[in-house]
Amino acid sequence: MGAKRACLRDRRLPECVVIERHEIGAHWTGQYHYTDGLQCLVTPPEHDIGFPYKSRSFFSAQADIDSEMHTLSWSAYLADSKQSVDWLHRLDKYPTHKEFVKYLKWVHDRSEFPLKIANVDKISVADGNWRL
Ligand SMILES: Cc1cc2nc3c(=O)[nH]c(=O)nc-3n(C[C@H](O)[C@H](O)[C@H](O)COP(=O)(O)OP(=O)(O)OC[C@H]3O[C@@H](n4cnc5c(N)ncnc54)[C@H](O)[C@@H]3O)c2cc1C
Repeated sequence: MGAKRACLRDRRLPECVVIERHEIGAHWTGQYHYTDGLQCLVTPPEHDIGFPYKSRSFFSAQADIDSEMHTLSWSAYLADSKQSVDWLHRLDKYPTHKEFVKYLKWVHDRSEFPLKIANVDKISVADGNWRL
């Protein structure tokens, strides 16, 4: 959601801040006692954060949203981290959850959407805004 919001770049939309207790993709890292991180995704990695790339341009007065999202795709990540060739030769085309977290962190670094590491203990509405 944060990446899509960053791609929209439309100032008429409300600000979007992602709040995580630990880190991006925390439960897929193998830490925090939820998964071991070593199991493979059950969905192809091409089902990435922009998938299924059917955004409409309605909200954005600027570039096409899907084109922007493609710059944050799994294949863009492989190319940027120089893993494309290795990946093409790899027999198992499903990354582990831990590997996919690296992609999710790359998306954050690249799109720079606001991320706050914090524990939310109360949510309310004040003056038409969320108050956490
Ligand atoms: C073992 C397993 C394997 C899976 N494999 C796949 C797969 O291969 N492909 C696929 O598409 N889907 C898979 N899924 C499903 C996928 O993980 C979820 O659909 C997806 O993570 C949901 O995303 P989310 O952002 O809504 O929630 P989450 O990913 O659960 O994110 C919620 C975040 O909020 C944080 N949080 C919670 N409470 C607070 C608080 N009070 N304050 C601050 N932060 C808080 C949590 O720490 C967490 O990081 C899998 C799920 C599991 C459990």
